Amino acid sequence: MRKQVIAGNWKMNKTHTEAEEFIQAAKNEVPSANEVESVVCAPFPFLQKMVEETKGTALEVGAQNMHFEESGAFTGEVSPVMLKELGVSYVVLGHSERREIFKETDEEVNKKVHAAFKHELTPIVCVGETLEQREADQTMDHVEAQVKKALEGLSDEQASNTIIAYEPIWAIGTGRTATSEQANEVCTHIRKVVGDFVNADAAEAVRIQYGGSVKPANVDELLSQSDIDGALVGGASLEADSFLKLVEAGK
Ligand code: PGA
Repeated sequence: MRKQVIAGNWKMNKTHTEAEEFIQAAKNEVPSANEVESVVCAPFPFLQKMVEETKGTALEVGAQNMHFEESGAFTGEVSPVMLKELGVSYVVLGHSERREIFKETDEEVNKKVHAAFKHELTPIVCVGETLEQREADQTMDHVEAQVKKALEGLSDEQASNTIIAYEPIWAIGTGRTATSEQANEVCTHIRKVVGDFVNADAAEAVRIQYGGSVKPANVDELLSQSDIDGALVGGASLEADSFLKLVEAGK
């Protein structure tokens, strides 16, 4: 049985005070870590405080990006070493906004996944197609290529421990969710790709989230699908009440 992992992705939202309010409201209310993994991926300036305040609770803290190098002349960047030192546990990599707006490539995402494992951070790797790709029937090929490139060169164990987030770009922040069948169809394909590219055990173990307009009203239906093992949630993760309903659904 794969444990569900519900991760909030705050993107570039909230003030320090708002982050603090969220943590106070949520940290003692999330279900036990044996039942579901509850993660909040927050902007860099909030991470240290959030890690301190959630110590001893089941609420985990993640970053939304990082550089793959450990240090150096990369003005404005944050390294995996820094995140690890703060006590961050997860890192979202290759989100479609990073790929589209900041031109991140599959090669960079792969280097970041390797760097995450080197520094004992659990990567949440995002893949997903544009609307044009879906309409041109390229979804499966596109997602397959992204998954293979992201996992390239990992050990079987690392591949098994990668969290893959399938996020159709046309469903992100649009209120337009993929139907649970559409979402599961792609997640099933991703699991098959992991099976062929790594091995059957990795396919069985790897957790695949769905993301794109997930909210309390549709989360049960999505999580009930055979190959969906959690959710990566933007808008509906910003309020503690709503986030708590989502993690509750993951039990
Ligand atoms: P959304 O964002 O839930 O607001 O659609 C999801 C994401 O971008 O991870």
